[in-house]
Amino acid sequence: MFSVVVPSELLERSHGFVENAGRPEGYEAQRTILKERDALAPTEGLDSDNTLYTTQPSIRMDATPAAFSDGWTECLLYPDVKALILTTPGFPSPLFRPSSRGYRLGPSPNKGRGLFTTRKISAGDLVLSERPLTLTPAWISTRVRYLKELTAEEKVQTQIYEWEQTFKVLFDRLHPDYRTAFMALANSHQRDGSGPIGGIIRTNALGVRCLQTGRYSAEEARTLRRGIYSAVCREISRLNHSCSPNTTAKFDVASFSYQLFAARDIPKGEELKFSYTALNALAEARQTELEPYGFRCTCSACRTPESDARRALSFVFPVETIEDCLEKLSLLEEEGLQVAEEYCETLKSLMNLYLGRGDVHNASKYARKLASRPWSPLADLARSYPLHFNRSRC
Ligand SMILES: [Zn+2]
Repeated sequence: MFSVVVPSELLERSHGFVENAGRPEGYEAQRTILKERDALAPTEGLDSDNTLYTTQPSIRMDATPAAFSDGWTECLLYPDVKALILTTPGFPSPLFRPSSRGYRLGPSPNKGRGLFTTRKISAGDLVLSERPLTLTPAWISTRVRYLKELTAEEKVQTQIYEWEQTFKVLFDRLHPDYRTAFMALANSHQRDGSGPIGGIIRTNALGVRCLQTGRYSAEEARTLRRGIYSAVCREISRLNHSCSPNTTAKFDVASFSYQLFAARDIPKGEELKFSYTALNALAEARQTELEPYGFRCTCSACRTPESDARRALSFVFPVETIEDCLEKLSLLEEEGLQVAEEYCETLKSLMNLYLGRGDVHNASKYARKLASRPWSPLADLARSYPLHFNRSRC
């Protein structure tokens, strides 16, 4: 009989220097994963609990990155997620790209390398879009039979080891150019038992939360990472962290790509950064969240003593009056949190409050501002707002 490892133990995956890291003795694991040759094959009849190696979008076996510049992704998915992808309207649509490249890779002080703008980029602009190199579940079930009593840390190490074996099969499916790009990414998990592939995934992956199929509840997704996927990207994964990020990223299923947007106007030469942590977390909690990445953040928010109080207030500040909303926007802007959904919610409140006053000019102004934040679900609402089109009257 195989027993499933208790998930709560695995949420505390090891990081930093771990004595005795590596594969423990005394267990057997059973992995049931299917390798797929036809990416368009229907998923009916597949065991819904088994994961599936699949290439998306579907490509010819002899495809090259040069001939197929939009690229493709090696995925490890549950069959119902593959069905969701294949039935998404427009899938696979071509990548939507900016009119010209506006960034370069370069050295970042104390952070290895990062991406820097090569021209001014305006708030809301698409900086880049790319198909991930790999897409894997944030948590993979591996059924394990313990042959002796293992410590909690050893159980974690069994899971980390088994994940590496699973990732290795995915890695071997990558085109050689993609393998090189993958292995060139940073790895902050070199002394905790993570394998080289799992370490790079843990260091570089962006969360994909829009592939939920109803298999898991919102609570399971939030607390156990069920149904959440991890995307490793060639370019976006290069972004360093800031607690006041100037970009944000969104996964678009139809084009199967991660899109990076400017959260505010970014001058030429500035480093592009996004947040690895919860935006509303305070400084100490953010540093704890960053521990697995192996650095302490020294961004302006982390160096400013009054930041914590302002950040906490900015998330709970009311939006009942126009004056409230303007004050809230100001607080969020001072904290550099234009990426926060609360910022968009406040723009929406302003739009409605001005409309309630019959002030079409200002209602349109905030509708346009909201519509130019394409990463937010509220942007579509603003775009459908008739006042948004009354530009000539503003
Ligand atoms: Zn910081």
